[in-house]
Amino acid sequence: MNNVDQKIADLLDQNRRILIVSHVRPDADAVGSVLALGLALKNAGKSVQMVLEDGAAGFEYLPNIELVKQVPEGNVDLVIVVDCSDPARVGNVLNNLGKPDLVVDHHKTNISFGTYNIVEPEQVATAGILFDHMPKWGLTIDPEVATCLLAGIVGDTIGFRTSNVNSAALRRTAALMDLGADLGRIYREELVLQSFKAVRYWGAGLSRLQYDNGIVWTSLTLTDRKNVGYPGNDDADIVNILSSVKEAEIALIFVEQSQNDVKISWRARPGIDVSGIAFEFGGGGHAAAAGADVKGSLIEVQKRVILQTKKLLDERKIE
Ligand code: 5GP
Ligand code: MN
Repeated sequence: MNNVDQKIADLLDQNRRILIVSHVRPDADAVGSVLALGLALKNAGKSVQMVLEDGAAGFEYLPNIELVKQVPEGNVDLVIVVDCSDPARVGNVLNNLGKPDLVVDHHKTNISFGTYNIVEPEQVATAGILFDHMPKWGLTIDPEVATCLLAGIVGDTIGFRTSNVNSAALRRTAALMDLGADLGRIYREELVLQSFKAVRYWGAGLSRLQYDNGIVWTSLTLTDRKNVGYPGNDDADIVNILSSVKEAEIALIFVEQSQNDVKISWRARPGIDVSGIAFEFGGGGHAAAAGADVKGSLIEVQKRVILQTKKLLDERKIE
């Protein structure tokens, strides 16, 4: 076992009150990783808080999801951040808690903001990193933990569809199935089933779909959200539909958060890297999937971001 894993094992062994957090607008990898690590630590006798500022709505199919809270309480001895490339993305939960003790992540834009940082960009999901390291930290992967980890892998690969899926990810998947995770059920719950409101929300976005020179995009406004009664502040995964447009090399979705705040998601074909442009706009992510939260009105942000994204494609064509 390497030195860092040994140090983390010691740290987990010596501390009792542990806080685990992840990013706002959590996806399956964020929720699954928080819950997997949290449940395993609880099973090891620790006092664990699992906190996601935006809660975990939509992930009711995961075991013990009711343990995930939106604010931490009382003192903690150890802070662990999973699936987050920078502390701002955690929201306000880390305020006054100082430097996190451990950061576990697979984003190549991670700024290594913890005392210990396990950042493995070749992994398809943070859940995969946890699968590899948890046993080295003395933690057991029981069927519930395995379910949460597999949800992370299925979610971040959109059901093994992303170009970074490799045989190692499939081997981890097989091992998690052997440990008790039900792939068919996770796949159905995570990717196939959508609420009626979410599909109507897609309709609002799709009715304004635009295409220009290799880029497809649309927006979801606060009015759309209100009209269909969609409860989340995310894109309801409409970006996956946008990125299925054959003509597009890059797909973009703009989700209005408030009058002065827009959440952007980029998706790119293999060979195009959108993590850099997301980073320039204050966000981050992976080559094929990245995001940012940008201040400004929907119209203004949309104009600025599309212009820059077009430049990215143009520069690539000149090379
Ligand atoms: P999504 O577009 O689905 O929100 O995210 C795509 C990828 O980009 C994910 O890996 C996510 O963690 C990352 N990402 C999305 N939004 C942000 C952001 O505001 N800041 C950072 N650092 N990463 C983001
Ligand atoms: Mn992830």
